[in-house]
Amino acid sequence: MNTASPNQENQENQSNSLISVNNKKITAREKSLLKSGEVALVGSGPGDAELLTIRAMRFIEQAEIAIYDRLVSDEILALLPENCERFYVGKEQAKHCVPQERINDILVAEARSGKKVLRLKGGDPFIFGRGGEEAEYLLKNGVSCHICPGITAASGCTTYAGIPLTHRGVAQGCTFITGHFQNNGMLNLPWQSLCCPTLTVVFYMGINTLSKITEKLVEHGRDINTPAALIRKGTQPEQKTYRGTIGNLAELVKKHNITPPTLIIIGDVVNQLTTEQLTTPGFLDAKNYSFQETNQVINVTEQQVKTA
Ligand code: SAH
Repeated sequence: MNTASPNQENQENQSNSLISVNNKKITAREKSLLKSGEVALVGSGPGDAELLTIRAMRFIEQAEIAIYDRLVSDEILALLPENCERFYVGKEQAKHCVPQERINDILVAEARSGKKVLRLKGGDPFIFGRGGEEAEYLLKNGVSCHICPGITAASGCTTYAGIPLTHRGVAQGCTFITGHFQNNGMLNLPWQSLCCPTLTVVFYMGINTLSKITEKLVEHGRDINTPAALIRKGTQPEQKTYRGTIGNLAELVKKHNITPPTLIIIGDVVNQLTTEQLTTPGFLDAKNYSFQETNQVINVTEQQVKTA
């Protein structure tokens, strides 16, 4: 029988608590406890600290050393405990500040020295983040690691720009794909499968290969007038969305001198909810909204009526 009074239980919970959300203390549960000699491989999302998961926040609060990338925002770094050591291993485009092999060794060495190690990566560690390679290396070297997903850029940035990745009657699915050249300088992608008109395609790391991407899509049959967008620094105060079509995206990049980190979104969903630049990322203002039924939705409704 539980003899503790609700007040006693509350006090115990509070003494274990690590973070507070909406003024409620959240107790660190056994499964999110980071022990000495362990690594927490944590996704920090696309930038806005509000998009951190509670599990990510728990690991951040316990870290004794944080090893982090370029895509981890300052707002999130500011949440690290004051006495937590910081180790930047970021990469900018082809310039690797610290080569991947060296990052792997640093993680193992810091864990073996008995620290509680936080490996913080932008977005989700297992989506174009080499998180899988890092986890494999840790395990091979006898270091256990907690793995914590983050909101990946494709999801966070499009939502904060007012673009739904799928929409009934418009897009039946979405594909996340890399636009980065392979080591041989080629961009060998399954182009045919990216050309279905009801598929949203999101390219990561594609800003420097954009003209090749749009050329290949058109060559394989995607309509040159398909709506397309570029989102730079999504979910962050500097977020900018540039809307156009497959045919004029490359011009937009030149005109606005758009640099990484930028996502490319291809598909009719781009103009589904709004064609505006949202002044507050993640906020759709009803005052600026005029509803237009899209052709695609009407078509599907007609089809449904015919087959009913
Ligand atoms: N693991 C990360 C992706 C790393 S690859 C994730 O899950 O999001 C790096 C690429 O992600 C960038 O070149 C860019 O295309 C995209 N990206 C990451 N954060 C972004 C952001 N805040 N705004 C726009 N693009 C972003």
